[in-house]
Amino acid sequence: MPRLIESTKQRVEDIFSQLEKIGNLGPSREAGFTRAAWSNEETRAMEVIQRIAEKAGMKSYWDGVGNLFLSTPGETSETVQVGSHLDTVPHGGNYDGAVGIVAGLDAILQLRPMWEKLKRRLELVIWRGEESACYGAVCKGSQAAFGLNDPSILDRTYLGQSLEEAIRSQGFDPSYIRDRKPTLDQVRIDGIASHLELHIEQAKRLETDSVPIGVVSSIRGTIRLRVQVFGEANHSGGTPMGIRYRKDANLAMAYMQVALHEECSYALEKGFDIVQTVGVINADEDYNKKNPIVWENALTKVSPFGYFTLDVRSNDPQFLPTYVQTAEEIIRKKAERYNVEVRIDRLLSLEPVERLDPSVRGVLENACRDLKIPYLVMPSGALHDAAVVAGARKSTGAPIPVGMLFIPCKDGISHNPAEFASGQDIARGAVVLSNALYRLARQ
Ligand SMILES: [Zn+2]
Repeated sequence: MPRLIESTKQRVEDIFSQLEKIGNLGPSREAGFTRAAWSNEETRAMEVIQRIAEKAGMKSYWDGVGNLFLSTPGETSETVQVGSHLDTVPHGGNYDGAVGIVAGLDAILQLRPMWEKLKRRLELVIWRGEESACYGAVCKGSQAAFGLNDPSILDRTYLGQSLEEAIRSQGFDPSYIRDRKPTLDQVRIDGIASHLELHIEQAKRLETDSVPIGVVSSIRGTIRLRVQVFGEANHSGGTPMGIRYRKDANLAMAYMQVALHEECSYALEKGFDIVQTVGVINADEDYNKKNPIVWENALTKVSPFGYFTLDVRSNDPQFLPTYVQTAEEIIRKKAERYNVEVRIDRLLSLEPVERLDPSVRGVLENACRDLKIPYLVMPSGALHDAAVVAGARKSTGAPIPVGMLFIPCKDGISHNPAEFASGQDIARGAVVLSNALYRLARQ
């Protein structure tokens, strides 16, 4: 192992051993982690990174909702950022998000002797609440920075606490989200010269092909629906079969899901980029508390009510909304066919990034070549804060140039206590990041 990577590996492993103590659900890493959005655990993890950065001479700035910006000193408003998140899904791993923060911090610290000479400041950004598992809303911190959240997310709950209460509990101000007011002022937004994110791949391609770095070309967007189906409770023995007699919510939902799967297969055959998942059927704890009608289903009843979620993703910005429109029509037709009422709510809509900035991608590829580290150019199936930044606009209307790197994770597993990225892989990523940050900041 080259010396540079060996010494970087020791530093990143040291920071990970500190993060491993925060939100850990048992005595070892394998027990899993819960660092929910705007929880004490998320804040403590952010403070660990803040302490290391400040000790090295970086300056902190907490924005109105509690995103943390750690910057090298200097007067210029121009920054080259590297960001990710430290929250986890409940019972998740210690690497999703955290590798980007730890590698990003180390990449900036590697350049410490050069800080004064760089034209732009280097800035590590720790976004709040990237994961959607806790409040059913994704990339909440990064969207708040640019005023992009749907304000209704503040009322969503996790373990009985609303997102609004959670934000207040950490000493921050939910009114930015309520009023769609960006937490970053225009000077800061206009000053972002480029933005990078390093993340675990959350799939197996790099590991299978034994390639240590992925340079991301596109990021899938997503539209998420909740479909509620209203039938009519009736005796399962006494009610004859057939839609003249039965309004069976469960039966209608089954046909809807099969028809949606067929439509998705058809789109794939035609060559479109799409994945689609029915993740939850009648099993969202917080939702069920507010809608106890779901418990009126019983073994001997025609089903009066049910709901499911649909998560559709594609990297094609034209195709994604068109497909979802078709999916909604299919759902409505099946509702009519099975004599039930339906209500469809859009929980989230985030546009795909069809093509990440080509010049930043070129810089990342050059950094890999320079360091003689093999890489693959690949799309990102999962959504990341970087996609939010890529969708934001400066006052000129120009997008912020965004680039993304992947490193391998063991067996491609993520959102699971078994999630793991090796110190060596994280170190390699940090070294590539550092090289790229230097190129972008000296320009
Ligand atoms: Zn992540």
